[in-house]
Amino acid sequence: MKARMSAKAATNRLKEAGLEITEHRLQVLMAVGNTAHPSSAQEILEKISAKNDINRVTVYRILDLLVEHNVLNRLGLGEKSQRFCLRIANEDEHPHFHCTRCDCYLCLDARQLPVDRHALDDLSLDIRHVDIRLEGICPACQKKLRQLDEATPADKPA
Ligand SMILES: [Zn+2]
Ligand SMILES: [Zn+2]
Repeated sequence: MKARMSAKAATNRLKEAGLEITEHRLQVLMAVGNTAHPSSAQEILEKISAKNDINRVTVYRILDLLVEHNVLNRLGLGEKSQRFCLRIANEDEHPHFHCTRCDCYLCLDARQLPVDRHALDDLSLDIRHVDIRLEGICPACQKKLRQLDEATPADKPA
């Protein structure tokens, strides 16, 4: 999501989620909220620790807490490939696009790929989390690939 997250917006979001406001929670939420693409925990840590005294464990713990309270989405499995992005209040998880070339993620609008949970009712699944991922090549990588093609028109290995 491209939304800019001010300290005020972050404070409100924590309040809505019923969470106590702490300086570190605000820092983590703003770091995620002000990044256009889903970020890894490491990226968030680097962003915050540049200006604040905060350790890795604290950042990870706050990320877990915010995911638990539906403030953030966690996508990807395995600690290294996990990314975090803002979850819109009272909305379902949104799908993501993953570029297999540069490993970036893009947030998509939930309306572009809605999940019909009712259509799944017959299966009696207790759905706790939805993580829909489309894979392909992002616009920036497509551009780079085109430039490579143009630079060497003859049999360029894929
Ligand atoms: Zn890419
Ligand atoms: Zn997202």
